[in-house]
Amino acid sequence: MNYKQALTNNIFQIIGKSADELGLETYVIGGFVRDFFLNRGTAKDIDIVAIGSGIELAKKVASNLKGEPKISVFKNFGTAMIKHNGIELEFVGARKESYDRDSRNPAVESGTLQDDQMRRDFTINALAFSINSKTFGDLKDPFQGITDLENKLLRTPLDPDTTYSDDPLRMMRAVRFATQLGFTIALPSLQSITDNKERLKIISQERIVDELNKIMLTPKPSLGFSLLHKTGLLDIILPELTALQGVEEIEGQRHKDNFWHTLEVVDNICPNTDDLWLRWAALLHDVGKAPTKKFHKKLGWTFHGHEFVGSKMVYRIFKRLRMPLNDKMKFVQKIVLMSSRPIVLSEDYVSDSAVRRLVFEAGDNVEDLMTLCEADITTKNEKKQRKYKNNFKIVREKIIEVEERDRVRNFQPPISGEEIMATFDLKPSKEIGIIKDYIKEAILEGEIPNEFDAAKALMLKKGNELGLKIKSI
Ligand code: ATP
Repeated sequence: MNYKQALTNNIFQIIGKSADELGLETYVIGGFVRDFFLNRGTAKDIDIVAIGSGIELAKKVASNLKGEPKISVFKNFGTAMIKHNGIELEFVGARKESYDRDSRNPAVESGTLQDDQMRRDFTINALAFSINSKTFGDLKDPFQGITDLENKLLRTPLDPDTTYSDDPLRMMRAVRFATQLGFTIALPSLQSITDNKERLKIISQERIVDELNKIMLTPKPSLGFSLLHKTGLLDIILPELTALQGVEEIEGQRHKDNFWHTLEVVDNICPNTDDLWLRWAALLHDVGKAPTKKFHKKLGWTFHGHEFVGSKMVYRIFKRLRMPLNDKMKFVQKIVLMSSRPIVLSEDYVSDSAVRRLVFEAGDNVEDLMTLCEADITTKNEKKQRKYKNNFKIVREKIIEVEERDRVRNFQPPISGEEIMATFDLKPSKEIGIIKDYIKEAILEGEIPNEFDAAKALMLKKGNELGLKIKSI
């Protein structure tokens, strides 16, 4: 392999030239180098480390670039950033870090390239290419990162206890990289994560969620969630989810393990949606099952109202994890709340009126809801699986049919309250609500079409039943 190929991009020549002018030993390091060896496409950010001042180097590079782009300098961190052709170039001076136990903000002093590589999280992230002209393209790999790339192994450059305890976010990064890259976390590392899991508590929720979201956006998030579970990290982050684990048996009756079922549902939904929030809905769709679980002598295991309880839990989980409490959260709540509705449909004869009600209540989220419910089919019984899938197909077809005919998705009553008041010469009163509801129910039941004339006839009929008199003109 000719490493220099990775550096054919003109930008490295310019950075190398700038570094030479300043007499600074300079390297490309981290994700760019790792991804080059993994053939992972083009990088969005490139990390440059100078043995000396990264900020000075950034200034020099900017002055050598066409149009002299703006530099963002972060003095406190000793870093600088230049945006160039859609790529973020991050400059830093090589450093040595020492950590205080209670914080992940280290005391920093200047160091050698090896000091800087030692402070990196994984050997595969510590690889560096020289970009000075004399040594252009030389690879610096003091911790056998290339071998680890070949063996698909995540290993820390230092004793894992030091690496993880210094900055516990690295435990999340280990799981995230393992999930994204399909790598194995080396056994001593896995043990160390388990031993240091409590240290995660010094990390801000936002950073934890950033990593969690990256895991969620991989094609197979269950890989990450199993690792989080195995190491005990998940108990700290989302105990509501691990509470779903286990199968109980009473009087010979068992329920399914809702934790592993949930992970299967999340994996199932991934090929059908890239939407992070629908994936979150899949992750939390059964979360209300732990607090609602009961055993009844006659009914066996029940989880009555778990969808409602689950949707309330969504709010508490989002709040605790400092996730957005906006329409994204409301979307997750709604999908969790309605998550059993299409399933009930699919188990039985699919009637038009049931589909109409589903579309009416789910509104624009009805397709997402169907996508979740289809992913929720995890039965290994092939006959049942065929039946459910086929019924969902029918539901989807009927949704289109019913929508074309009745337009109940964003239901606007064909007769307004004003119209009812004017017809019967009424002031605002409960009769108006009764008539409106009556019309809505008749439309949803399919007794009348969603049209003005039919609705008006029904209004007159109901008004008469209520003893209302039509206003004479
Ligand atoms: P991605 O872009 O997929 O997140 P990346 O490796 O480029 O991957 P960054 O977070 O941009 O991720 O980090 C760049 C480099 O900085 C890493 O490759 C690693 O060398 C180092 N790094 C980042 N975060 C840490 C950390 N918490 N501890 C140690 N080194 C880190």
